[in-house]
Amino acid sequence: MATAIEVRDVHKSYGHVKALKGLSFEVPEGGKYALLGPNGAGKTTTLRLLVGLLRPDYGTVRVLGRDPAVDYEVKRRIGYLPEDPSPYPTLTVRENLEFIAALRGVEDPRDRAEKMMDLLGLRNYERRMVSTLSRGNLQKLAIALALIHEPDVVLLDEPLNYLDIPTQEEVIGILSKMRATFLVSTHILSVAGRLTDRILIISGGTLIWQGTFNDLRGMAREDEPVEAVVARLMRSAGA
Ligand code: ATP
Repeated sequence: MATAIEVRDVHKSYGHVKALKGLSFEVPEGGKYALLGPNGAGKTTTLRLLVGLLRPDYGTVRVLGRDPAVDYEVKRRIGYLPEDPSPYPTLTVRENLEFIAALRGVEDPRDRAEKMMDLLGLRNYERRMVSTLSRGNLQKLAIALALIHEPDVVLLDEPLNYLDIPTQEEVIGILSKMRATFLVSTHILSVAGRLTDRILIISGGTLIWQGTFNDLRGMAREDEPVEAVVARLMRSAGA
């Protein structure tokens, strides 16, 4: 199977802060992977490198075989939900969706905007200015904007943040049905287990473990929740 995401020996610093120290992993085409790690592990940095917002100081980052920092064509095939999404605050929900759909080259932006509003339950807010939305509804809009052009590679930074439980379930349903390759950063282990077929744990800017949710369960001591297994792995890596 072809490789959709390749991160090889990547180092990235912000001034004196070494965020990534030789991070390597691959996601095959169609793979559903979760990125797990303690606060400050380098998850957001990794996603920003993959979307081309940052460049590595050293090492290789490839999406669909191309360098996302310089290749505009591959950027069009990526859908990205940032940790702090910032849709246009003075445009309405509908205007944001139509505008981004048009910018992304979607054939019928109006129709797609409507489909995304229906999918994410945003119909009641279509005429609301983004600056007046609750944080949860802003998150729904940001997810709709990330998926509006039917990307081949989806990069999501904490997608379930701020969502109520019914909406979390809806978003999990939407993501589970997608054929795209995706990499999702999350602190919610049960979500990683339900949504993804492989979990990457990073700590201190390097990969410390990878495997399936069932592998993690298999490592649990008697009556130990799987979260405790992950905490143990992170602690043993010095987190
Ligand atoms: P969290 O789970 O808390 O969101 P994370 O795993 O996403 O964390 P990153 O946000 O990638 O981690 O941060 C990795 C390291 O880089 C941290 O030490 C962080 O403080 C640092 N860092 C991130 N962005 C910057 C920046 N713009 N300037 C300076 N340091 C930064």
